[in-house]
Formats: sequence, structure tokens, C-alpha cells
Amino acid sequence: MLDLCDMSSEENFSSLGLNEDLIQGIDSMGIQKPTPIQRESIPHILEGKDVLGIAQTGTGKTAAFLLPVIHSIIKESNRTSVSALIVVPTRELATQIDQAISAYGYFTDISSMPIYGGSDGKVFTQEKHALTTGTDIIVATPGRLNMHINLGYVDFSKLKFLILDEADRMLDMGFQPDIQRIIAQTPDSRQGLLFSATMPDTIFNLSRGFLNNPITINIALSKPP
Ligand code: AMP
Repeated sequence: MLDLCDMSSEENFSSLGLNEDLIQGIDSMGIQKPTPIQRESIPHILEGKDVLGIAQTGTGKTAAFLLPVIHSIIKESNRTSVSALIVVPTRELATQIDQAISAYGYFTDISSMPIYGGSDGKVFTQEKHALTTGTDIIVATPGRLNMHINLGYVDFSKLKFLILDEADRMLDMGFQPDIQRIIAQTPDSRQGLLFSATMPDTIFNLSRGFLNNPITINIALSKPP
């Protein structure tokens, strides 16, 4: 469990305005107080702002974007297409985020599917089904998602959120062209969130092309001497 919370703050997840069923999921995971990145990001994301978050794993960054995204999606009752796309560097991270969606969203009707390379034809068919029948949140690695996009049946025209997580790692792994292709599939109206542990020029340039007037949130982890 993280120990990054400012215990003097009385702010909790209810005071951030999150849905009660979602708060039940957060409670059942034993999480009580938002971490700094959660306190700072959640209100802006709920307001519809684009966010550039500079934060490492261990700061609670995953919940910082998942909670407001799930909150916004479950408010809509007639959902027939993919509402949020989370692009991540590795299958491990895709699986981990998919599991976090199931845990936080346990008492809601949110649906999600991880999409990553290396699996067999049966899994490919399940992924295609999730992409075309309106699973709420897709968590995908860039190469595998582009395989589906190239086959022509992916329609992100009604996408509400595009999230790039661990963006610096994705660029280090050579995914820049794949990411640009994915961004080009999404509507201008979508809300963009970009999370990265570091902020080199390449990430700055990516964020300039992708985010619209973003709020920048920089959470520096203190390191032992
Ligand atoms: P992350 O930085 O997103 O990789 O999260 C690291 C770990 O912190 C995960 O195991 C989360 O379940 C946990 N976590 C997320 N938010 C909180 C919070 N507000 N309080 C305590 N633990 C948390």
C-alpha cells in the first residue's frame, strides 16, 4: 500500500465527487485517501480537461486516470461503442490496468478488455469482438492495436478518452509511429491524458501534438540519498 497521502488532508474520494458505486470498489480495496497525483488530477479530468501527468509507478497514477474515466463512462446508460482507449508499452501493464478496472469498477457495470501481442487466433477473435461490440475500455499495446486497425473494422469515432500511459517507455521501445497512427484514428473531441515518468523533448513534442491546453501535474518522487 502506498504511503504517499498527506494524512493532514481531510479530502477523500467522496469529496472528489466520484460515483458511490465506484467509491464502494475503492473502499473494498482498502484505499482510503487519494495520493497527491489523484487529488490533483481527478478534478481536472472530471471537468473535461486534458492532463499531462509526470509521475512514476508507485504514485497511484493508474487510479488517478482510471477513477474519473470510469466515473464519466458509467454516467451514460446507452453505451454501444468503445468509450476509452488506454495505450501502454507492455502486456504486463495492459493486464494490470485491466485488473484494476475490474477491481475499482466491481460494483459498477463497466466493461474492459486487454489487447496485446503474442496470443493465438481465438484470443484475436475475442479482441475483435471487444473492439466492435462496444466494450467500454480497451487497454492495448500499440503494435497489436494497429494490427486490428489495419484490418479496417475498428471505429473510434465516438471515443471519449485517449490515455497514453508510460509514454516515455513507449517511445524508448520505438512505438512512436504506432502511437501517431492510433491518435489519428481518434476524434478531435476526445479528452487526452498523457502520463510519463520523465519529460524529455520527445514527450514534450508528443504532448504538443496530442493534448489540447493541458493541465500539467508534476509529481516528483523523493529519492533516498
Ligand atoms: P500505481 O502508481 O498506479 O502503479 O499504483 C501503485 C499501487 O498503489 C497499486 O497497488 C495501487 O493499488 C495502490 N494505490 C493506488 N491509489 C492508492 C491510494 N490512494 N492509497 C493507497 N494505495 C493506493
